[in-house]
Amino acid sequence: MKADLHTHTWYSPDGMTPPSLLIRVAKRKGLRVVAITDHNRLTIVRSEDVILVPGEEVMTTRGEIIGLGITEEIPPGLDPFETADLIEEQGGVVVIPHPFDWFRRRTALFLNGVDMNRFHVVEVLNARYVDYTPLVRAYTYAKEKALPMVGSSDAHTPWEVGVAYTLLPDDIDDVYDVLIALRKGLCKPFGHLSPPLVHIFSPLMRIFHKWGLFKPHSAPSSVKNR
Ligand SMILES: [Zn+2]
Ligand SMILES: [Zn+2]
Repeated sequence: MKADLHTHTWYSPDGMTPPSLLIRVAKRKGLRVVAITDHNRLTIVRSEDVILVPGEEVMTTRGEIIGLGITEEIPPGLDPFETADLIEEQGGVVVIPHPFDWFRRRTALFLNGVDMNRFHVVEVLNARYVDYTPLVRAYTYAKEKALPMVGSSDAHTPWEVGVAYTLLPDDIDDVYDVLIALRKGLCKPFGHLSPPLVHIFSPLMRIFHKWGLFKPHSAPSSVKNR
């Protein structure tokens, strides 16, 4: 089954998709599993249509880390290993997004000298790569270290959802099964890159959010205010 394990809603400062729309698009595109991984924020929504994996893309002192299957928000600005520990303490899976992307040098963990050896999964395909160079490097690295690989859209707009995705075993019923499959490496990256045009949206969305033009008015039920 198809999973998109890295997506953003309008609760990210550069995202434009309401969670309900994200889920609708995912369903239409045949995705059975979706992880919402907003920046430094745990966005929890519920859906009958897809298996929603709670997640967060956390900024550490040396780049970004994704925690999947977490229940409590993880603060940004910690050391990458400390961040990974917090994810693991919650039973989550640690995914390293776009580790070799020169375009996002500040957030690409490996380029900042962090060895990904002790993390669980490498996102080798990120649909927001501007070319395939980081994919080849990440693939080679993950292969060499025998680390599980995933592919994700990193969608900040509805059009990007599912452009790249991960194939998981068909007998997955819930979040727990997804996490087990990832840990076991029963996952495979597929898909392609989004058109470079998508990069225009992130700075635009940041401005819109700042002007209050595009602000979601009510926060979704998160674990904190459950
Ligand atoms: Zn990122
Ligand atoms: Zn992202």
